[in-house]
Amino acid sequence: MHWADVLADELAREEKKHVLATGITPSGPIHIGNMREVLTTDAVYRSLIERGVKADFIYIADDYDHLRKVYPYLSKSYERYVGMPISDIPCPCGKHKSYADHYLGAFLNSLKEIGIIPKVYRASEMYKTGMYSDAIQTALENTDKIKEIIEKISKRKLSKDWIPFNIRCERCGRITSAKPVLYEYPNIEYTCECGYEGAVDIRVGGVGKLPWRVDWPARWKMLGVTFEPFGKDLGTVGGARHTGEKIVQDIYGYPPPKYAVYEFIMLKGAGAMHSSKGTSLSSEEMLKMTPPEVLRFFILKNQPNKHIVFDPGMGILSLVDEYDQNERIYFGKEKESRGMKDLRRTYELSQPYNIPKKMPYQLPYRHLVTLIQIGKNWDDVKQILLRTGQIPKNLEEENELYLKQRAEHARYWLNNFAPDMVKFEIKKNTPYLNLTEEQKIFLSYLKNIIPDLKWNADEIHNAIYEISENKNLQIKTAFKTIYEILLGQDNGPRAGYFLSNLDKKFVLNRITEAIK
Ligand SMILES: [Zn+2]
Ligand SMILES: [Zn+2]
Repeated sequence: MHWADVLADELAREEKKHVLATGITPSGPIHIGNMREVLTTDAVYRSLIERGVKADFIYIADDYDHLRKVYPYLSKSYERYVGMPISDIPCPCGKHKSYADHYLGAFLNSLKEIGIIPKVYRASEMYKTGMYSDAIQTALENTDKIKEIIEKISKRKLSKDWIPFNIRCERCGRITSAKPVLYEYPNIEYTCECGYEGAVDIRVGGVGKLPWRVDWPARWKMLGVTFEPFGKDLGTVGGARHTGEKIVQDIYGYPPPKYAVYEFIMLKGAGAMHSSKGTSLSSEEMLKMTPPEVLRFFILKNQPNKHIVFDPGMGILSLVDEYDQNERIYFGKEKESRGMKDLRRTYELSQPYNIPKKMPYQLPYRHLVTLIQIGKNWDDVKQILLRTGQIPKNLEEENELYLKQRAEHARYWLNNFAPDMVKFEIKKNTPYLNLTEEQKIFLSYLKNIIPDLKWNADEIHNAIYEISENKNLQIKTAFKTIYEILLGQDNGPRAGYFLSNLDKKFVLNRITEAIK
């Protein structure tokens, strides 16, 4: 059984409405680990909905958390905002409502493409509208107990004047620098490092925030969370999940939600991804470079606790090939081999929206990568595909949209991540070349053959081999010559396929020019 169904089974045993939670502190580019959290939860959510269980999928943006430091991707001017809630800080580009929105908005938008539309909660709004008021009062009434739980489980010593509430200083706006002096419901008197002395009324929204270890369990109770996965860093002995379980039971009288611990996604050649280090790859970018069904497949085919490595280089091409092969097996066009457990289910869960009734039109992704470098835009590519018979004239609209979407992802990958070896550009004019006698002979034979050649990849490929064999020419030199006259470089995509997508006349003219 697929792991998502196993988790859903466990939840469905309790007959009630389920709330599946995910979340992030949007303090920087959203890291790819959060993508795993969201997709893991989505798979369980879908499994529940399919079996008729009532469930909600929520995403909590902890935008009332404070800016911890000036991250490498921020300008020095952010120094003065350290300690302030990230929803109170201006956005780095000037186009968003706040710093938090800058990182969150685009991510949430892009989730739609992979078929995820959670109900979004913003902690800043939850605090400001007073949703947390009861939880704050309960926490403050139980200060000693909470302190004991945290100290005992996390083996951390908390300061004498510690209370489970971070006051937001009314003067400097920071939630990290005010020290409580006296709590007498409903007021907390405080002094701040900035020199301010004041008092806040905890019944008023937005006067402060529960510390993370208390905020998390408080939120479980408040939102009725029954399932929430977390990264393995939070699940360690003495970690936030551990103290949270005890706090939610003993203080808030609510059972801890079920969970799955997920492993980090490693980036090939870079190690584990952490947003605080100024990641080299964000969730959003991962989504832009990977077709949505393939991104889902990458995460859902693996158990959440399995280490996975995302390769933004050539690995993407193999990943898409693997997905396409699974698709062919799903639709019975190819035989299933051993070790392909849960393949059908993984394929179904990988679909952003509906499961296709018949197999989508497949075009090898590597071909698409070649074609988008020959054509400027989708219309060009489509014309080539039609001319060469790679797609039928009556290709259904949904299939065209599917190919077009894949082409867009391939282009983003090409422009931003692809290694140079797959990149090329067809030179408008014949490059200035110093061709050897040997190369010129090869080209003139090729030129003579082309007019009668069936213009398809295999025929062209065979013709190149035949000439080089007959003329005792190294095949490497033959290929190199072709790339040189068309691309001005000595390597390129597979020659037969490549040439077949170019206009025959254009190729003939180029050869004529080159041997002049
Ligand atoms: Zn912005
Ligand atoms: Zn202050």
